[in-house]
Amino acid sequence: MARVNSALYLNETIDAFEVDDNYSYYKKDEFKCPVCKVKLQFNRGINFLDPHFKNWPNVDHLITCGINVNNNQFNKYGNQNINIITSTILPRAKRLTSKNDKFPTEILIKRYYGRRSKKFLNALNKLTENEINTLTLITEDGKTVRLNEIILRQDDIIEKLEKEKAAFICILKGYTNKTIDVRGSKKNTLTYNGRYKNTNKFDLFIPASFVEKNEVQIENIENKLIYCYGIAEKNQYGYKMNVYSIEHQICIIRQ
Ligand SMILES: [Zn+2]
Repeated sequence: MARVNSALYLNETIDAFEVDDNYSYYKKDEFKCPVCKVKLQFNRGINFLDPHFKNWPNVDHLITCGINVNNNQFNKYGNQNINIITSTILPRAKRLTSKNDKFPTEILIKRYYGRRSKKFLNALNKLTENEINTLTLITEDGKTVRLNEIILRQDDIIEKLEKEKAAFICILKGYTNKTIDVRGSKKNTLTYNGRYKNTNKFDLFIPASFVEKNEVQIENIENKLIYCYGIAEKNQYGYKMNVYSIEHQICIIRQ
């Protein structure tokens, strides 16, 4: 039984956690597969801790739906972390790159930097190099991508930003430095010209209004190899990724 963590609801893609948070608000027969559009049912999971969508009895995804392929990968490896990775429809790339500017920050945070991202990053961190290189997952717009295609080093990100001239969502893999204060905001410039062979400057940036919320964790992520899930962008100061929630967006790979 294939599992997905996002579904279409009245033509908007929503995450199972959003449904769980507002359970009574949603009409339960309106959920559809974001890829093949068959109806799905919502399930709150064991002890209500693992909300997700699954098939209605005898209603399978269309044979062409990539969700089936994802499910086969899970069956092949039998690893629960793979189930989490492949059922999490990431990255929500297409919608973000086209509508990036129109989303208020609060909506971005709720949709993209919540519990799902944390779960995804933690599962990613438990995969082997071989699994990262071979697994595929499906994006919200139905495209299948290799997992390692969405994990990028800062030099790769900068190259893509220059080429495409648009912000995009991805998982950054990089090595942090000491965090510095910039007029109330916090900035951590990833290492470059060093052992990780990146040659360009790239910042993780915590906007001033989010510093207090993240204060206690800022030191924990210094001088670490990390994954950071977010929107890579270029502004007048350079290349950066905003961090609104260290807890949900950043996962330490190595101390
Ligand atoms: Zn489907």
